Amino acid sequence: TATLYVVATPIGNVTDIGLRALHVLGLVDAVACEDTRNTSHLMQRFGISKPLLAAHMHNEREAGETIVRRLQAGERIALVSDAGTPAVSDPGAKIVDAVRAAGLRVVPLPGASAAVTALSASGLINDQFHFVGFLPAKAKQRETALAALRNVTATMVFYEAPHRIAEFTQALVAVFEPTRQVVFARELTKLFEEIHRCPLSDAMAWLAGDAHREKGEFVVLLEGAAAQSDAQDAEAERVLKILLAELP
Ligand code: SAM
Repeated sequence: TATLYVVATPIGNVTDIGLRALHVLGLVDAVACEDTRNTSHLMQRFGISKPLLAAHMHNEREAGETIVRRLQAGERIALVSDAGTPAVSDPGAKIVDAVRAAGLRVVPLPGASAAVTALSASGLINDQFHFVGFLPAKAKQRETALAALRNVTATMVFYEAPHRIAEFTQALVAVFEPTRQVVFARELTKLFEEIHRCPLSDAMAWLAGDAHREKGEFVVLLEGAAAQSDAQDAEAERVLKILLAELP
C-alpha cells in the first residue's frame, strides 16, 4: 500500500544502517533525499539502485506535493536525509506534514541521530533533555538565544558546524556558569571519534589543545541549571520570615 517510509541513515559508520532500512530501501518505488550523490553512494554500498527524488531545504514544499501525488497513485516512497534521522535539524517535517494532511500512511524507521548518540555516551543524567539543534550563526542572535536558555534545568543538546565550534564555545562561556559540565561529542561513529567532558571553564583550553579539534562534526551537550529544590525554597522562606520579623 502507498506509504511514506521515513528512514534514518548512519551518521558516519555506514554499517550502522538497519536491516529493516535496507529492506525498505530495496522495496520502495523511489527514494526522496537531500543530496542525490550522497544517497546513491550509500545505496551503492549495499547494492541497491532506485530512482532518486531531490527533497532538500530549498524545494521541500514542491517535493512534498510531488510525493503526495505519487503516493496517491499507489507508490511507496522512502524519505532519507544526508545523515541521521530526517526532520531532526534536517528537511523532512514539511513533507511528512503534507503526506499526513493528505491522509496517507507514514511509517518511521528508527536509526541513528547524533543527539541521542551523544547523550548515550555522555554520562550526564539525561532524565530530561532540551534539544536546541543549531543556534543562529550571527553572534548577537546567538547570544540572545543562549541567554534565554540560562534557567533550563534539562541537559541541553546543540549541533554546531566545525568552523564555528570555537566561537560557539566562547559564547557558552560568556553566558553560563563556569562549573557547568559540557560534553563535546566529535566525529561520532567515525575513525577519529572523541567524546570529551569537562567543566565549561576548561572547554576553550581543550579545543585549543589539538589543531584537529576544530575539524569534524560536533554535538555539544551542556548540563542544565541547578534545580532549586523545594527544601531550599522552604528554608529560604523560613529565614526570610525571621528576618522580616526583626525589621523595624
Ligand atoms: N538529522 C541529523 C540527526 O538526526 O542527527 C542531524 C543533521 S544536521 C544537518 C548535522 C549536524 O548533526 C552536524 O553539524 C553535527 O552537529 C551533528 N552530527 C551529525 N553527524 C555527526 C557525527 N558523526 N558526530 C557528531 N555530530 C554529528
